[in-house]
Amino acid sequence: MSGASQQLSRLKLYFRQTIWLLLAFIGSFFWYVRSEQVIDEANRQRLQSFFLADELRQTSDDLTRMVRSYVTTGDHLYKDYFQEIIAIRDGQAPRPQHYHRLYWDLVFAGSAKPKAYGPPVALLQLMQQAGFTEAEFARLAQAKAASDDLTAIEFQAMQLAEAAVKLPLLPQLLQRQQALQLLFDDNYHQAKAGIMRPIDEFYLQVDSRTAAEVEQAMWSADLLRALFIAIACWLFLLVWRVQRQFNAVLGTSLTDLYKHISVLGSAQDSALIEVPAGKQDTVLGWLARTQQRLLQLDETRRMTQHRLEHLAHYDALTGLANRLLLIQSLQRAMDQQPQSLLGLAYLDIDGFKFINDHHGHQFGDRVLVQLALRLSHLQRPQDLIARFGGDEFVVLLYPLIDEQQGCILLQRLLSEISQPIYVEGLELRLSASAGLTFYPQAAVQADQLLRQADQAMYQAKQGGKNRYHRFDAAREQQLRGYHHQLEQIRQALELAQFELFYQPKVNMATGEVMGLEALVRWQDPKRGLLLPAEFLPLLEQHVLGIKLGQWVLAEAIRQLGLWLRRGIRLPVSINIAANHLQHADFEKDLAELLAPNPQLAQFVELEILESSALDDIGRVSALMEKCSALGVRFALDDFGTGYSSLSYLKRLPLHSLKVDQSFVRDLLVDDDDVPILQGILALAKAFHMEIIAEGVETEGHGQKLLQMGYQLAQGYAIARPMPASVLLNWLPEWQPPESWLNNR
Ligand code: C2E
Ligand code: MG
Ligand code: MG
Repeated sequence: MSGASQQLSRLKLYFRQTIWLLLAFIGSFFWYVRSEQVIDEANRQRLQSFFLADELRQTSDDLTRMVRSYVTTGDHLYKDYFQEIIAIRDGQAPRPQHYHRLYWDLVFAGSAKPKAYGPPVALLQLMQQAGFTEAEFARLAQAKAASDDLTAIEFQAMQLAEAAVKLPLLPQLLQRQQALQLLFDDNYHQAKAGIMRPIDEFYLQVDSRTAAEVEQAMWSADLLRALFIAIACWLFLLVWRVQRQFNAVLGTSLTDLYKHISVLGSAQDSALIEVPAGKQDTVLGWLARTQQRLLQLDETRRMTQHRLEHLAHYDALTGLANRLLLIQSLQRAMDQQPQSLLGLAYLDIDGFKFINDHHGHQFGDRVLVQLALRLSHLQRPQDLIARFGGDEFVVLLYPLIDEQQGCILLQRLLSEISQPIYVEGLELRLSASAGLTFYPQAAVQADQLLRQADQAMYQAKQGGKNRYHRFDAAREQQLRGYHHQLEQIRQALELAQFELFYQPKVNMATGEVMGLEALVRWQDPKRGLLLPAEFLPLLEQHVLGIKLGQWVLAEAIRQLGLWLRRGIRLPVSINIAANHLQHADFEKDLAELLAPNPQLAQFVELEILESSALDDIGRVSALMEKCSALGVRFALDDFGTGYSSLSYLKRLPLHSLKVDQSFVRDLLVDDDDVPILQGILALAKAFHMEIIAEGVETEGHGQKLLQMGYQLAQGYAIARPMPASVLLNWLPEWQPPESWLNNR
């Protein structure tokens, strides 16, 4: 058995002994208390015995005193008292309070009759219940019998005295004398002594018996007291040994142990627990060993965690940082010093797949390891080079003095990559393409920055590899806004937020309305009514522009059909964007729209811009021919702003020219435009084309144009573009200004 288990079993033994002794201690205490009670009981019984014997003696004396007084005085009160004392003694009347005094004293001490106390009980009965021995009880019974005999004499004396009352005085005195004689003669005294003798003997017997009992009880009480004290001392000794043994098992005090455990439990860095010599095999010793084991475990855990962290943050092949660590470091740098400049470069080795395919992946891995080593030699203290898997590396250049420095550092990395590499006796010459972006930028996160660098790297590849490309943040921002707006327009089309307004074209000389131009508007619920200048430029190169053009075409033709049914026979000019016109399905779409009602074609005029017609004149003129065959007409819009040559004008099947409003606007203040307008007019006449002036803003503009020979016009002086419903009211009400009519 080891020392510790020996100590422990000894502690258990002491502990068990302590429990038993404690039980014995409790038992002896109760036993001792009981013995004290026995003493009290014995004393009480002794006292009770004396009281009962006393009562017998006193009642006898009381009776003697009452009877003698009655016989002497003839007063009936004494006789009554006499009889009452007998009644009390025989259990026919209750005992008065404080009956240990003589009845004589009780009744003559005060005028009131003594108060009754408890139910009536015969003295003999009380004696029987008092637990006397037979001999003792026999003495008392003897005394009682003698007392009853005496009572008989006393009754006889009282009868004599009573009878004497009726006699003449002398015989009365003699008879009373005779009665007194009965109460004082030897006979009476003998009888009285017959009561007192057994009582005295009773006294002696009871006294010796109860005294012995009390003595016996006291003796055993003394014994128990001694036992009780002995057990208590023993117990105290045992508790002391338990405590010593307990400390021996613990190896230290409980307080000390508690302190060590609480420090250990609170996971604080604590000093090593010191174990005194010879206390190794104690609780303190075990605790010290547990502490050491915990420290070892902690160390192992720390190392494992470190290893895991390394695995989580570093590339297993090259030992460079991985994607996670780079993004974390990048985000930290962005958050901690948002104002300082940093660069992010995304590098991809050109043609690395070829190396892997021809020399195997292991060879490729060795190349990558060498590359990583070279790159890390160029790394500045705060820079971070990461491998993103495959042949992609990302470099965080931080901090930078300016963007120029970032470019120089990246250039250095690229030229390092292009130095010859020797692997397995082979000389390799590599190059890399890189994308470079910089921070700060507004509202950009680490992953977005990474995407920018990646995107720029892609552009470097596109640009011919072995180079770097800088990401253009402003252009990206613009593009983002552009895409957002395009999305809004797409939704507006779906939600039918576009509407066509119509602007009349008139003959100023006659006042006749010659036609209408359909102009698109966007009813944006947030921004209100938007003009084409706010959304059409965005759609110039986008397929969405074609979609909107298709809708305009369909809507204008639908409206035209409605007007014709109502008898309004006005041609409608529809603006066609360049990309819409050149769309493969343009003619087919137009034909389909006109198919249900071919007579509409003659009322349709398509306005095309000079520039869009010139893009690919061959294709466009062929297309115009096909459309003309359907019955529609063409107008060249904003004429004068492009560079149409006369031969081009000749080749295109045009019905009319619309003079650009820039020539009309300044007509009244700038005479330079007059010859241009006159030239255009002559040209239109030469080519047999209709000519119409746009932007006629005032009556004066109209007058001047009329004077120059222009008749057809469109502009705010006539009407602003309006919804189809408003146009219905405008048409019958419009009147040209008087000055125009007078110019005819
Ligand atoms: P546009 O085809 O030359 O149309 C004439 C433009 O001049 C209209 O502008 C019209 O409101 C405006 N205008 C008319 N009279 C006056 C005037 O007296 N003074 C001034 N300052 N302006 C006048 P809007 O509606 O803003 O259209 C601008 C341009 O957008 C159009 O020029 C046209 O090229 C294009 N556009 C309009 N609707 C469509 C459409 O449905 N499809 C296509 N592809 N282009 C359209
Ligand atoms: Mg137009
Ligand atoms: Mg125009």
